[in-house]
Parts: sequence; C-alpha cells; structure tokens
Amino acid sequence: MRLAVLAGRAILVKGDRAAEIEGLPADPMALLEQWDRLREQAADLPDEAYGRPFDPELLQAPVPRPRQVFAIALNYPPHAAEAGFTPPRDPLVFTKFPTCLTGPRTQVTLPEGRVDWEVELVAVIGRETYQVSADQGWEAVAGLTVGQDLSERLTQSRGAPAQFSLGKSFPGFGPTGPFLVTPDEFADPDDLGLTCLLNGEVVQHDRTKSMIFSVPDLVARLSATVRLLPGDLIFTGTPAGVGNRRTPPRYLTDGDELVSRIEGIGELRQSFVR
Ligand code: ZN
Repeated sequence: MRLAVLAGRAILVKGDRAAEIEGLPADPMALLEQWDRLREQAADLPDEAYGRPFDPELLQAPVPRPRQVFAIALNYPPHAAEAGFTPPRDPLVFTKFPTCLTGPRTQVTLPEGRVDWEVELVAVIGRETYQVSADQGWEAVAGLTVGQDLSERLTQSRGAPAQFSLGKSFPGFGPTGPFLVTPDEFADPDDLGLTCLLNGEVVQHDRTKSMIFSVPDLVARLSATVRLLPGDLIFTGTPAGVGNRRTPPRYLTDGDELVSRIEGIGELRQSFVR
C-alpha cells in the first residue's frame, strides 16, 4: 500500500493513479491512528478504484505533524569513518523539530552558514509501541518514506559538547515523501538502495542493509526508553558522501538542485535560494 497526501487529505496511490479513502479520517495524522483499518480497506480495494490522476508536484509531506521525530547519527560505517568516528555501540539520537518538515518538492531558503545534504530512509511508526524486541520491530512500522536531513554545520557543531538538533531544524530542512510505503511492498525492506544527487551528480549511494542499527533494531532501542506513537518519524541516518567531509568541502548554494531517491519509494527534489 502506498499513501500520499494531497491538499491536506490522505489518498491511496497505485502507479500514477489515486483512490479516495472511504469512511476513515482524511487527515493523515488521524488516519495513522487507524492504520489496521486502512490496511484492510486498501487490501479490499479493486484496481478500478484507482481512477484519479494526480500531479506529483503537488504532493505534501505524508506525515505532516508527527509528535516525535527521532534522527540517528553515524548509522553507516563509511559515514562514521569519514566523520572521524568508530561505529557507535549505541545509536546516537537527536531530533529534527517538527516545524522543519515539508513535502517532497520544495524550494529551500538557505540560512547563513554551511548547509549540507543527508539522504535518509525514514520509518513511520504505525502503532503505540513501548519496550519491544527487535524481532517485533517491523510490527511497529506503518511504512517507509524518503527523507532529507538538511543540516547547517556551523549551528550543528557549535558548543562543547556540540548539540545537533537546532542546526537540523531550520525551516524547510526536513523534506519527506513522496509516498508512505508499507513494508510488505518491498522484496526486502531491510535492503533498499538510496541515492543523493546534487545537480545530477551522484554524491551519496549505499544500501540500507549497511546500517549499523536496522529499522527494527532502532524501534527496539528507542522504545526501550521512549513510548513511540503513531506518526512518529525515525530518520535512520545517512551514508557517506556528505559535503562537509569532501576535499575541498562543498555546501549547498543558490541555484542548486538536490534529488534524494530510495528504490521502491520515489524521490524528493529540492531547489535552493539564498
Ligand atoms: Zn542525518
């Protein structure tokens, strides 16, 4: 099942066609509270129900107002190495404050500083979850989407010790979408190729099986402490190839276009203005 949000209303998507959701809330946040009922409805829906064409340029964030947003640092060994760290033994967790979240196609106004890219798989929680094992981790997940963890590196590294969350939460710094895709849609939801392109050049590419902490592992470790709620997002970390670890360093500038792609889900497309 693929879910998208158009004009504030959740729709089901198959290919380039959409179906209306009947008898359940149109608001995506309310809908996530009734995820099992939506899954049943979608399973029963004939192909003919997908009759409405839609404009992909108009899609919005599939989860516009999560109560909690978790993000994981250094979750790919090559990225941990390029950042100068050994792979962590426990997940390094920060937040992207929810006002930074946007949809898949946006223009981002660059703040002062050094703005960098981080393509990431984002897991969306589908049921209240507390203290589950990794074996049960996927059961907590409604679906997967693409995320960009845009980061202003000066704000991120200010202070000793540094704290990440503010530098990752400027307006427009959390593009997500274009679809929320249920785990059963993938041959292996633990092994998805993800790619980031800057002005058409591949700057990041890896597979999610490289992650130190997999999606179900993260659900288990986060839920050991925090009660996870429907609609919560987990930005699962970025592969190697970010701009501030390049020689010379490279940052986003006026006129750049960034594409963030995950196989089986789709792509985000951001343009940048100063
Ligand atoms: Zn990140």
